[in-house]
Amino acid sequence: MPSHSPEHLPKLSTRILDLASSGDAWAVFSAAREMVARGETVVELTIGEHDFKTPAEILDAMDASARAGHTGYAAISGTAALRQRVAERVAARTGVATGPENVLITPGGQAGLFAAHMGVLEPGQTGLCIDPYYATYPGTIRATGGRPVMVPTRAGDGFRPRASAIADAACAHGARSLLINTPNNPTGAIYDRATLEEIAAACVDHGLWLISDEVYDSMIWEGEHLSPRALPGMAERTLVVGSMSKAYAMTGSRVGWIVGPEAAIDSLTNLAINTTYGLPGFIQDAAAFALGEGAALEARVAAPFRRRRALALEVLAGQSVLRITPAQGAMYLLLDIRATGLSGQDFALRLLEEEHIAVMPGEGFGRAAAGHVRIALTVDDAVLAEALTRLAGFAARCAG
Ligand code: PLP
Repeated sequence: MPSHSPEHLPKLSTRILDLASSGDAWAVFSAAREMVARGETVVELTIGEHDFKTPAEILDAMDASARAGHTGYAAISGTAALRQRVAERVAARTGVATGPENVLITPGGQAGLFAAHMGVLEPGQTGLCIDPYYATYPGTIRATGGRPVMVPTRAGDGFRPRASAIADAACAHGARSLLINTPNNPTGAIYDRATLEEIAAACVDHGLWLISDEVYDSMIWEGEHLSPRALPGMAERTLVVGSMSKAYAMTGSRVGWIVGPEAAIDSLTNLAINTTYGLPGFIQDAAAFALGEGAALEARVAAPFRRRRALALEVLAGQSVLRITPAQGAMYLLLDIRATGLSGQDFALRLLEEEHIAVMPGEGFGRAAAGHVRIALTVDDAVLAEALTRLAGFAARCAG
């Protein structure tokens, strides 16, 4: 007789069970959503999503494509038109010869991050990430069967990695890949040329693939964005992850890409055949249309974040408890709250309880971000200014 008692039921894989460990990072977010569901007013400065919808002209293109019949299976590696548009964007921005054969369209940058790691890590091999990191990174690497190892950065270095730290971690763990993110979520750091050259040299010296997450490359407030794929010798060992989500306010459409060597793109297409089976054609047509509108549309979508980043720095200029990393790019501000004596987690929970303002505790983005909170600049300017004034007042009270 087969037993139905729990200990005799088939188990879930440790790979899948291990993914459920970013728990605390989302506790504040979930508590805020529960308060809103109860009808309470909460200023939500948590997730990186625009407070406005996908531009109407992109939706018109999506609608026209769907009505014209592009609702069946579409080319799995991406439509010819979209791959061409992405290649043109990358070539124009980097000067690196890039054709459609170098582009795989993925369901968002997140799926691109997963596919890139699937492509380069054998089971059990180490993939390095820079800490602080986007919250999904460790889980993404674990999901591929890889082993994430963090390379810490320091606020004093502008949260840019030191080549020696990358080299040490690569040697100690026999790493196969390094994942970087510039402009960075959560710090807003943009890696300068010297930093990227050092990273590139470390990758060459230690035989690493470089996976470069550039989903915020349209949100540049200071300095310039350089793609490390453009550095000498790097195009053959770099997989760039890009996305329509942030640049075109298309988070829900789930369109991203990997740009890399043709042979890698061919192999990653086999992964797509066996996993996603591509993206809806009408979504890809809308993305191709949006990319055709180009820089002007990207600037329009980025404008509110540029303005709010300046506004936030102005509002916080007068206080002395919070130390601010002045984000050079992306849609966030990382605040060092250690002078309050609280952890990022406790600060965020109390701020939610006492001021009804929700922010992300730094601990969810890695050890190097502990004692910080991340503010998403994703609410109306006046609401943001008022919330930051109250947040600074709360911090001053905590600091006593
Ligand atoms: N990479 C970074 C650094 C992010 O912040 C995000 C989303 O917030 C992503 C990748 C994934 O974005 P998407 O899958 O919407 O393209």
